[in-house]
Amino acid sequence: MRAFLYIHIPFCVKKCIYCDFFSLPYDEPAVRTYVDALCKELNLKKHPDAALKTIYIGGGTPTLLPAECFRQLLKCLRSNYHFSSEIEITVEANPGTVDKAKIDTLLSLGVNRLSFGVQSFNDSELMTLGRIHSSDEALRSIESIKKAGLKNFSIDLMYGIPGQSMESWRESLTKAIELSPSHISAYELTPEENTPLYPLIQSRKITMPNEELILEMYNYAIDYFAGSGYTHYEISNFAKPGLQCVHNLNYWDRGEYIGAGAGAHSFISGIRSMNTKDINEYAATLNSGRIPEIQSMKLTPEDEIKEFIFLGLRKIGGISLNKMPHTTESVTDKERLLKVCKDLLDEGYLELSGDFLRLTRKGIVISNTIIVRLFGKLGL
Ligand code: SF4
Repeated sequence: MRAFLYIHIPFCVKKCIYCDFFSLPYDEPAVRTYVDALCKELNLKKHPDAALKTIYIGGGTPTLLPAECFRQLLKCLRSNYHFSSEIEITVEANPGTVDKAKIDTLLSLGVNRLSFGVQSFNDSELMTLGRIHSSDEALRSIESIKKAGLKNFSIDLMYGIPGQSMESWRESLTKAIELSPSHISAYELTPEENTPLYPLIQSRKITMPNEELILEMYNYAIDYFAGSGYTHYEISNFAKPGLQCVHNLNYWDRGEYIGAGAGAHSFISGIRSMNTKDINEYAATLNSGRIPEIQSMKLTPEDEIKEFIFLGLRKIGGISLNKMPHTTESVTDKERLLKVCKDLLDEGYLELSGDFLRLTRKGIVISNTIIVRLFGKLGL
């Protein structure tokens, strides 16, 4: 069922030093052309079964869009898709691009969840990251959405920032909790090769915090959020009871989703596909009535099992062994998986709870290593 929709808005004020998401410098005429094209894609992708449970507008910086573009987008969505009564509509928000008028527009259009890319409440760390906002701006924009009556909002934080100390991490967490978000994401800063940060590390102009400190920060966050009433439900995500991100849970459950926008991915009927990232080609293809898809891949049985394990184990609840993908050439099955996991179970990195196989706390903090070990044992 096509109930989950992702929309990509690939425009930002400027590139953050660590960012490997697809984004381009903001340019208003280009944005307007892009939104027209997006509406064409949404129209072409409408489907009688598409009763949407979630819409996630991500980026880039969606909150850079002018109010009329949001109106156009939501009008297009409402005229092409059926919205389920409990629909979650999330917009990613950059604190430097949100004011009262923008918040009022979003809420009046039915947006009921905002995800704030705060990253840190320490100004020096924000400067290091190349963020366009200060800590005060983040506090003010979040206070404005609370005043506007929106309770369902998330705060993204980052640990492992060059120059970040345990003390400043604790301060950021304290400030985040004081704002009482419904949801918090805490990501480790991982320097990717295609980012401006990478060569700075290679040339030793910037030094990353050491691994022990990064681990200490993650462990501290897990305990601090738990003590503040947040359930740790995915490796990097914490939520007040019942307020997990429905949209993202669908990714980890390997549910189908429609993706719209330049560079957006879709997953339908076992096929993962991607749109072109070239916004001119994107608009031109849609203007000629075609979907601007440039890659499409039918998953093999191995792919399905791999995804089931690495996406599923991200969830703290783990994977239901009875829901392992069934393949004709059984690459692996429940019995084989359990046999192969024996060492990891004995060493206390994994545990079984009824039908669920999950990472323990000892395993969660080194989840990548454990998953690589597991794939090695499975020959995947
Ligand atoms: S605002 Fe977000 S998408 Fe844009 S450059 Fe920064 S991290 Fe990347």
